[in-house]
Amino acid sequence: MDRYQSFAGTALGRLVVRKLGLPAPHPLRRHVPGQPPLDGPVLLGGGGRLREPVGRVIAETGARVVEAAPDGVVGSGGVAGTSGVAAGSGGAAAGGGAAAGGAAAGGAAAAAGGGAAGTGGGAASGELWGALVFDATGIDSVGRLRELHAFFQPVVRSLAPCGRVVVLGSPPEGAVSRAAQRALEGFTRSLGKELRRGATAQLVQVAEGAEGAVGSTLGFLLSGRSAYVSGQVVRIGPAEVVAPADPERPLDGQVALVTGAARGIGAAIAEVLGRDGAHVVCLDVPASGAALAEVAERVGGSACHFDITAPDAPRGIAGLLAERHGGVDVVVHNAGITRDRTLGRMTPDEWDAVLSVNLAAQERVNGELLRVLRGGGRVVGVSSIGGVAGNAGQTNYATSKAGVIGLVEALSEELRGRGAANAVAPGFIETAMTAAMPLLPALVGRRLNSVAQGGLPVDVAETVAWLAHPASAGVTGNVVRVCGQSLLGA
Ligand code: NAD
Repeated sequence: MDRYQSFAGTALGRLVVRKLGLPAPHPLRRHVPGQPPLDGPVLLGGGGRLREPVGRVIAETGARVVEAAPDGVVGSGGVAGTSGVAAGSGGAAAGGGAAAGGAAAGGAAAAAGGGAAGTGGGAASGELWGALVFDATGIDSVGRLRELHAFFQPVVRSLAPCGRVVVLGSPPEGAVSRAAQRALEGFTRSLGKELRRGATAQLVQVAEGAEGAVGSTLGFLLSGRSAYVSGQVVRIGPAEVVAPADPERPLDGQVALVTGAARGIGAAIAEVLGRDGAHVVCLDVPASGAALAEVAERVGGSACHFDITAPDAPRGIAGLLAERHGGVDVVVHNAGITRDRTLGRMTPDEWDAVLSVNLAAQERVNGELLRVLRGGGRVVGVSSIGGVAGNAGQTNYATSKAGVIGLVEALSEELRGRGAANAVAPGFIETAMTAAMPLLPALVGRRLNSVAQGGLPVDVAETVAWLAHPASAGVTGNVVRVCGQSLLGA
């Protein structure tokens, strides 16, 4: 927690923040093994092809699911009659199946106009929703977009701190109403910017035939693993989904390569992939010596020293993986550098160094690694919001990071049916790289996002772990920003 955030959490700080209208960062709820993923029940609304499978998947996470009327229209005569909020699969809930009147935090605790009954009972009086999930795949006309308002408006102020909003849609191209499905993006991104107290909102576009491939993505988005991810549009395509034997160790028996693993985000990625069961091959420059060895030991993996820009590095890395491990399952291109300067003052060396480490080396390493990437393999490129939105003083860096997005898009097509490739684009993450930033850009980077704070390396690492998960096979060609919905870029 940074100094401003600590101050804003005190009684005096809260008063000053409120009076001056300053950003109010709320401590983010992150994943802790053994703790429930959400802080309250899930209200599931909307009516489309995803409602039934999604309800099942959420219930499997242990969360209590409360079902709202399929059309989400209050008072339109939902399953339970005129309330617009219907009984779910479990029938009448405890306490008469009604949660109406459970006013909390300035809003009703259940959908307006009636009670919410569900599988395990409605939200208890005063209880806040852990998540609001809406299946919008049935929205086949612009007129039906009103169902979003009908579902969310009465309940949005009763979302728990660090609660989750997930809207499920279809890829707009090919949808009955392309306009309506595209409209969901504007809704979700705006709602993400309105939510307070660490809550987040995402849109998941699920292709026809991919209904069974949503589990790992919902598991990620409806938990503290996605603490610093908001305002994102994630696409899931049809894929053969393999559920891991041990859900706590989904990468058991797999080998993961993480470049730039000696510190910062790379070290956190190594740690989380190791936690998930992978043997992590931690790679960094020879000068990283003891720091890299320490990370490798901590995660129960192994260390290897390469400068990825060296001409013989791609072949050397592929050879090592083939000889020692018989191949690789997950490749995370995390190594990166900055040499910031406005273009008019930038030396050719500063340009070349950044392009070479951040982009050209990844491309060359991929060329060799694809020979040893096992079936179902995953490649994750670490981009940056600079690569999405551009940033003054970073023409070299933004060029390289936008190039990373192009690399994974091309790779995603190349690997179709035998693997997946995605990019993560971190925003302001508290590491040595951002600690070296001048005061003002650091202040702006840290506060100008929907959760008003910097992220932690573990937030990027959890996002990578979701993309590496065996059940995320349908998630490919995506760019997922881990930026707390930074005001920079889309
Ligand atoms: P960092 O500087 O703390 O760590 C980068 C690591 O990469 C270092 O250990 C370094 O030795 C290694 N590395 C550099 N050049 C290498 C080379 N030629 N061969 C092998 N290893 C090399 O950086 P970080 O903040 O942890 O960032 C990690 C990644 O995330 C980078 O790609 C960075 O561009 C990206 N990113 C970071 C932020 C942020 O806010 N920190 C934001 C957006 C993107």
